[in-house]
Amino acid sequence: SHEPAEQELTDGFHLVIDALKLNGIDTIYGVPGIPITDLGRMCQEEGMRVISFRHEQNAGNAAAIAGFLTKKPGICLTVSAPGFLNGLTALANATTNCFPMILISGSSEREIVDLQQGDYEEMDQLAIAKPLCKAAFRVLHACDIGIAVARAIRAAVSGRPGGVYLDLPAKLFSQTMDAEAGAKSLVKVIDAAPAQIPGPDAVKRALDVLKGAKKPLIILGKGAAYAQADEAVRQLVETSGIPYIPMSMAKGLLPDNHPQSAGAARSLVLKDSDVVLLVGARLNWLLSHGKGKAWGEPGSKKFIQIDIEPREMDSNIEIAAPLVGDIGSCVQALLDGMGKDWQAPPSDWTDTIKSRKEANIAKMAPRLLKNSTPMDFHGALGALKTIIAERPDAILVNEGANTLDLARGIIDMYEPRKRLDVGTWGVMGIGMGFAIAAAVETGKPVLAVEGDSAFGFSGMEVETICRYNLPVTVVIFNNNGIYRGTDVDPTGRDPATTVFVSDSRYDKMMEAFGGVGYHVTTPDELSRAVNEAMDSGKPCLINAVIDPAAGSESGNIGSLNPQSVVKKK
Ligand code: ADP
Ligand code: MG
Repeated sequence: SHEPAEQELTDGFHLVIDALKLNGIDTIYGVPGIPITDLGRMCQEEGMRVISFRHEQNAGNAAAIAGFLTKKPGICLTVSAPGFLNGLTALANATTNCFPMILISGSSEREIVDLQQGDYEEMDQLAIAKPLCKAAFRVLHACDIGIAVARAIRAAVSGRPGGVYLDLPAKLFSQTMDAEAGAKSLVKVIDAAPAQIPGPDAVKRALDVLKGAKKPLIILGKGAAYAQADEAVRQLVETSGIPYIPMSMAKGLLPDNHPQSAGAARSLVLKDSDVVLLVGARLNWLLSHGKGKAWGEPGSKKFIQIDIEPREMDSNIEIAAPLVGDIGSCVQALLDGMGKDWQAPPSDWTDTIKSRKEANIAKMAPRLLKNSTPMDFHGALGALKTIIAERPDAILVNEGANTLDLARGIIDMYEPRKRLDVGTWGVMGIGMGFAIAAAVETGKPVLAVEGDSAFGFSGMEVETICRYNLPVTVVIFNNNGIYRGTDVDPTGRDPATTVFVSDSRYDKMMEAFGGVGYHVTTPDELSRAVNEAMDSGKPCLINAVIDPAAGSESGNIGSLNPQSVVKKK
């Protein structure tokens, strides 16, 4: 007998890595463990960047925001069952926010899981993931890895972006196949997010509605920031002369000090506008569903909406002119149709906005200069506002209640995709994951402004920040609790449900891992510490003492708290 010439083999591990690399994916966020520990090692060996976290939810949030920043799906890699579930929160959040992301989880053996015989970390992960993301796939054969990765990428980035789940059972990784056949089985995705050109009738309808406006308004949402059609969006605003407001994560798409920004006259323009052009912004709770008191007289305005998702139209109220397509193509089509003799909006509208804006800015100014101790939110944020003005390319991550709502209004942004925050769900816990991915993906300095409560959800990742030596400065607005630090338990038995240990020193957490900690009590000290920290380019954490009595219940959204009518006293 004679042996055949030795065959060159590949396996599931290497096919996953090769499929990702072939599609330009070079970074993975995850937590190692069975069955994906070796996959992570091999990814690193093969030149990929592997960022290992302390908890999967933070790795998942990092992947999600990497997707938002790059338009490529961010990858999160987790172990089975509990690790998968931890990552799933982030996958659902990414889907809700329209961020492209792929959660890749190892899973247990199908045969045992399906017969429910009690495997190590047994769970039918595919079934659980399905309702929480755009698409979910499982791969059983190594020869299908290439196709599966291609499907996952396409599903994440085409149309409305979102989260995709990819289930890889443990056995798949060690499955072997002929190396040449393996290489041929890989798919390089061509045109993963194809342009979607709006219909000419829809463009004309939108322009007709816009032309009839006496008090037009543009609302830019994070879809517009995601689209990276920055120049076209700027031209649309400037050529049309229409005042605009940015949603939170669209801040900086045009600089917040732009003369057409109506951000400081937000309530006026929502109420009094007669035509509203939505660009990548949904009429969800963040815009009071397009109706009610904030929007003035019912039926007083017409909406034009640009969105890639046709089913978004009429989600809450009637859209007079739906413009379905990708933002770059839609905005360009509007610009082309506006022509040379486009009329700027009437000056009584723009003048009214201007004077309201100036009045509101003047009213706010002295509060931002208050150099008191303990600090209130305004004094502290006044200092940070100046820092971002001087460092416009830094990325601002922001979460909390008062810390979020007040920072959003006070800190001006100057460049696109520099403000990353709690998004559509208003979720707590994105802080360190977003900060880490922002630093890894962009190489820019990151300033994370965190309420002490918000920070707690991802705080252990300061070790990750130190381990990878990332240029992240974390500022904790420490007011001893959730919303305010002044509550007491009426029975006197326990701490109140909303307070933490008083006068905690979060700065020492950073020092525990070799980063630099600061403890500050005045805006001047805060300013000095942040500048020093950001100049150093090293991991730093500043514990900023805020008056526990400053701020309000639930920040700006206290009205969403249900009220008990029978509660005693
Ligand atoms: P915001 O919270 O800032 O108002 P939303 O997340 O509510 O923003 O809305 C973003 C919208 O942008 C989503 O409806 C999404 O479908 C849409 N979108 C995302 N990417 C694109 C794109 N490239 N072209 C068109 N629309 C997009
Ligand atoms: Mg607090």
